[in-house]
Amino acid sequence: MSETKRVRTRFAPSPTGYMHIGNLRTALFTYLIAKKNGGDFILRIEDTDQERYVEGAVDVIYNTLRMTGLNWDEGPDIGGPVGPYVQSERMGMFKDYALKLVESGKAYYCFCGKESLEDKRHELTDTPERCACRDMSPEEVKARLDAGEPYVIRQRMPVEGETMFHDEIYGDITVENASLDDQILIKTDGMPTYNFANVIDDHTMGITHVVRGNEYLSSTPKYNLLYEAFGWEVPKYIHCSPVMKDSANKLSKRNGDASFEDLLKKGYLKEAVLNFIALLGWAPKGEQEIYSLEELVEEFDISGISKAPAIFDPVKLRAINGEYVRKMSPEAFLEVITPFIREVVKREDIDIALLAQVLQPRTEQLTDVYEQIDFIDKLPDYDTAMYCHKKMKTNEETSLEALTAVLPILESLSEWTIRR
Ligand SMILES: [Zn+2]
Repeated sequence: MSETKRVRTRFAPSPTGYMHIGNLRTALFTYLIAKKNGGDFILRIEDTDQERYVEGAVDVIYNTLRMTGLNWDEGPDIGGPVGPYVQSERMGMFKDYALKLVESGKAYYCFCGKESLEDKRHELTDTPERCACRDMSPEEVKARLDAGEPYVIRQRMPVEGETMFHDEIYGDITVENASLDDQILIKTDGMPTYNFANVIDDHTMGITHVVRGNEYLSSTPKYNLLYEAFGWEVPKYIHCSPVMKDSANKLSKRNGDASFEDLLKKGYLKEAVLNFIALLGWAPKGEQEIYSLEELVEEFDISGISKAPAIFDPVKLRAINGEYVRKMSPEAFLEVITPFIREVVKREDIDIALLAQVLQPRTEQLTDVYEQIDFIDKLPDYDTAMYCHKKMKTNEETSLEALTAVLPILESLSEWTIRR
């Protein structure tokens, strides 16, 4: 890769209706690599898995990225020089690319049909998915195409030798070509597979750095062979370890773990969440842990990304959130805390600003305020034992007397101030 080439990265989420924490981390790392190098951060929507289409799901992606300040330079809504930026609008181009590979012998038509091939695979366990169609004569291929037989297009993997690729985190990885499947590039319906569309999109969009989860490490040799087959420059790979709930389980929305939206509802500030996410699998050089997005752009370095899985630690998130709450101006805190106060305080004759002022130093997570102020609307049951004190010789009766006497004095106070 030439040193002067402009860095271009992309975040390519599927619209699922929520922003998984691992996805937001990928978006953040992708953004930071682009901005650190003065490059472009591109948003591409991968919406071709139609079964998973969710109404309004693209807006969740837009809103999350905007809220967290991860502003994209090119994308579906703002366009750019290499659009369209929605994968379903790019469908026309993929088959032509696959046919080029067929011409050059790097891919072939397969007429086996999905089922029969899976049967074969079943018989020949431990052998990669290859099929006899790779050796079919051009005459037979033409005859079957002319007869209108359904087909897929498969990548022709080398049978011998090995493929090496470099990952910025994991270093050099070598695999035996004999272990690689002849993966499908174009499906029976003429649509590309995820892996194929990804390579074509990344190349045609000029992507220089590919950031993704390390579950893709094993398919990367296939990606590389595709780049080679086309004679294209291979991008830099940055494979990130997963975000884990604990040492055994991945963090997953499907298992009820919090998405970005859930964390906001749970009373975390968006800046604090982003800061926390940056530290999931990435370590800054010094001791500092609180970073604004601008500071992250300065500080971020690919070499700080860890191979070890990152554990989502709610205690740490809460502590970071507390730091952000304490740094806020009273006005900013009032704005974020008002909806939380209003969850439990419906009375209109309450000075919310004063309440917020009292609560700010006592708050780490915004939902902390619930139990601190739930007495305002409705006096909860309480134990009258607190009025009885042996040494002070008070009991319920004398306490009532004293409190009744002091009530008019308290009521006559016009101004309540907070002593700092
Ligand atoms: Zn076949």
